[in-house]
Amino acid sequence: MANRRRIVVVEDEGPIRRGVVDMLTMAGYEPVEAADGAAGLAEARRVGVDLVLLDLRLPKLDGLEVLAELKTTHPGLPVIILTARGSEDDRVKGLKGGADDYVVKPFSARELLARIEAVLRRSAERPSVVRRIVCDGNEIDFERREILFADETKTQLSEMEASILTHLAANSERVVSRDELLSCVWGISGERLETRAVDMHITRLRGKLSPPEQESKVDWVVTVRGKGYMLGREVTTEVAGAPE
Ligand code: CA
Repeated sequence: MANRRRIVVVEDEGPIRRGVVDMLTMAGYEPVEAADGAAGLAEARRVGVDLVLLDLRLPKLDGLEVLAELKTTHPGLPVIILTARGSEDDRVKGLKGGADDYVVKPFSARELLARIEAVLRRSAERPSVVRRIVCDGNEIDFERREILFADETKTQLSEMEASILTHLAANSERVVSRDELLSCVWGISGERLETRAVDMHITRLRGKLSPPEQESKVDWVVTVRGKGYMLGREVTTEVAGAPE
């Protein structure tokens, strides 16, 4: 099936996670597994994710923290929380935290799939957070991961490059530090951070955004000394449909 919907399954209990993954695969979805909160957050922030199934009791990063982080950077991304029977408190906190719906463990494939379909149907009516950024007749289409230059030539962005740009675009009003990019785009935190890796990716990204054969020399990504990076002032971000 072309263009299968990608669903990130964040669940630390292996048998449950694998059960959900099987249900999703059989139903024609493309599941991505994550066994703890930090990995789940990193996977959920990748380009092309359609929905997140999020357990709340997770190692490394608690499910509610994952939810809060996601709602900051990807407010339009649908999240369904997985809660244990009887934990009404969790359910309420999850829904207050911006989850779209919940299912109570143990659940049947039928129930889970019905919830997913309903949430996807609703979210289809609100476009994803950052769709395009535009500058000086050039644009970046995040759904296709393409730079479209004013002269109609195109360049493909890697998933990493697109993730960096979406993160900068989603936070275009402020400077994003290298550490934040590492933890949000690469999912690395708490350990010794290799921030030079970020600089190398940015350099390569700039090379793609402003190749020598293009006349327009747009500052897509600006370096803020000692602080990090941000989107250039002339870049317009088309942010649509962030939920209330
Ligand atoms: Ca758990």
